[in-house]
Amino acid sequence: MIDLHTHTNESDGSYTPAELIDHAVALKLEALAISDHDTFAGYDRAIRPAADAGLDLVCAIELGARSTGPPRRTVHLLGYFLHKPPSSEFRAWLDELLASRRERNLRLIGKLQSMGVEIALKDVEGIGRTLTGRPHFARVLVHKGYAANSEEAFRKYLGESASAFVERQQPDASMGIQQILAGGGLPVLAHPGRLNIRDPEIEQHLISGLKDAGLRGIEVFHSDHQRSEVERYDRLAKKYGLAMSGGSDFHGDAKPRISLGTGVDGNVNVPKSILEKLRQVQ
Ligand code: AMP
Ligand code: FE
Ligand code: FE
Ligand code: ZN
Repeated sequence: MIDLHTHTNESDGSYTPAELIDHAVALKLEALAISDHDTFAGYDRAIRPAADAGLDLVCAIELGARSTGPPRRTVHLLGYFLHKPPSSEFRAWLDELLASRRERNLRLIGKLQSMGVEIALKDVEGIGRTLTGRPHFARVLVHKGYAANSEEAFRKYLGESASAFVERQQPDASMGIQQILAGGGLPVLAHPGRLNIRDPEIEQHLISGLKDAGLRGIEVFHSDHQRSEVERYDRLAKKYGLAMSGGSDFHGDAKPRISLGTGVDGNVNVPKSILEKLRQVQ
């Protein structure tokens, strides 16, 4: 069993890179990809412990982007096997993403404060490392008693239809795909089931548009995917000539229902052959 989608505390996971490697080794995973949002910091810190433990560690990243549409949606892109060290162009592009997050975070703090929530940017940045995202805001809101749990914090304040929502500048999906390709990586559509597109024609239109923009793979196995979704994305992968990927999207205590390797109640079990095929198409 392998896991090709995980997060460390360098983005919005709770495990340190070394703890994540220990956990993967204890579970006897045959390979692990660290796919933090917008940063390689977690992967970089995991290289040594993974090598010491003889674990096959895969470099990856996860990026938020906007599909061209219709429908215009936030899609998550995974990039695998990027050049290390990344080119100066790719690093500069990631720095822009981090800067736009910081700008969003400032506006989000302003909006929360205007609603009477006592929260300061330093409270939130204090618990983030390379990146401070909405999950960090959720943790602070829970800690301060403004929400009972993370879900409620998103429902009341942070989610797309919630009162304090502030949109973040995100690159177009075609730009994200091109940046991953230019960085030597394999662009893969993450957790398509989460897009929640009911109309199969619209869903296929979105996927074929991404394929035309250079997408090379699709995440078929994921903690959020029901069995019917796994079957559908398996079919669509074959239809559009996309490689299959899969992982738990482990975030540690930040998403306690998801277990490394096996997802939610054992709904994920990715065989090593998936990684071998991804390496072949790369
Ligand atoms: P950000 O990139 O800072 O805008 O935060 C996005 C992250 O917040 C996603 O990757 C999810 O992990 C998390 N997230 C987004 N919406 C929700 C939600 N409704 N409930 C819980 N977590 C969410
Ligand atoms: Fe996340
Ligand atoms: Fe994601
Ligand atoms: Zn993820």
